[in-house]
Amino acid sequence: MKVSRRDFLKYCGMTATVLGLSANDLLGLKDALANPNGPTVLWLQGAGCTGCSISFLNRISTVAPKTAGDLLVNSVNLAYHPNLSSLAGDAVVDVINQAYTKGNYVLIVEGAVPTAFNGAACFAWSYKGVDKTFKDAVTMLASKAAKIVSVGSCAAFGGIPASGGNPTQVLSVKAATGKATINIPGCPPHPDWIVWAVAQILLNKPVALDSVGRPTSLFGLKLHENCPRKEQDEVNRFGLSSGCLKPLGCKGPETKSNCSTLKWHNGVNWCVGAGAPCIGCTEPTFPIATPFYKNV
Ligand code: SF4
Ligand code: SF4
Repeated sequence: MKVSRRDFLKYCGMTATVLGLSANDLLGLKDALANPNGPTVLWLQGAGCTGCSISFLNRISTVAPKTAGDLLVNSVNLAYHPNLSSLAGDAVVDVINQAYTKGNYVLIVEGAVPTAFNGAACFAWSYKGVDKTFKDAVTMLASKAAKIVSVGSCAAFGGIPASGGNPTQVLSVKAATGKATINIPGCPPHPDWIVWAVAQILLNKPVALDSVGRPTSLFGLKLHENCPRKEQDEVNRFGLSSGCLKPLGCKGPETKSNCSTLKWHNGVNWCVGAGAPCIGCTEPTFPIATPFYKNV
């Protein structure tokens, strides 16, 4: 059974406000719903941990969507996702190849692109007995994509697979393909950010990007600016319910994201709210620059 557009976004449960959608936008999404040739989405996974998909799918346990999520239900045709597609083997590669032949799809890439060993450190699929490296799969599909969304810090910037010695010579999707990408970083990214990016593409809205390819609507401000602990006394212990975590190496002053206002898990909490410093997971310097990974 193929994963339908309905299943893809059924559980997002976004409100129009969270997604930043106006009434006109919602009407536009309705038009997208009515379009039998609505955009096909192909979701690839390379050098990563699948955490981005899990973050996105965490929405699955929420109550039924009522607003923008309802409107997004039939808006995309998720032709391929490594974890969600119930087709497998040559049959699912046929689906991918059909989408490629047609072109003009939205390519979502999760995970970075290993380039060492001619790409043989990571394979995307095997078709009729021939293995396809992730590098070749991304390069091929990027060539005919209408838009490319790099989901997560690995796809956007290299992330953890590119840190340290980087023996597989991991690159970001943009660096590996030479194609423009909308970068939705995070380790993992917030599900709302992913849905926001897909919604902008469906609405054919221009997405303003910063110098490292992040949408300025999501990553325009340093989260420290809106942190509720900004004016509080500094503390040097984890897990406290108040106090600025700068002495623990909080990266909020240098990290662009809206975590401090959006929060995670349907607005329940976020890293600093739980008494843990921001480790700057949306920055291109992650994880190298984070104290989390430094010997002390
Ligand atoms: S906890 Fe972090 S983000 Fe919040 S005010 Fe302190 S340094 Fe800034
Ligand atoms: S608060 Fe910082 S480390 Fe936590 S998710 Fe947001 S950007 Fe990443």
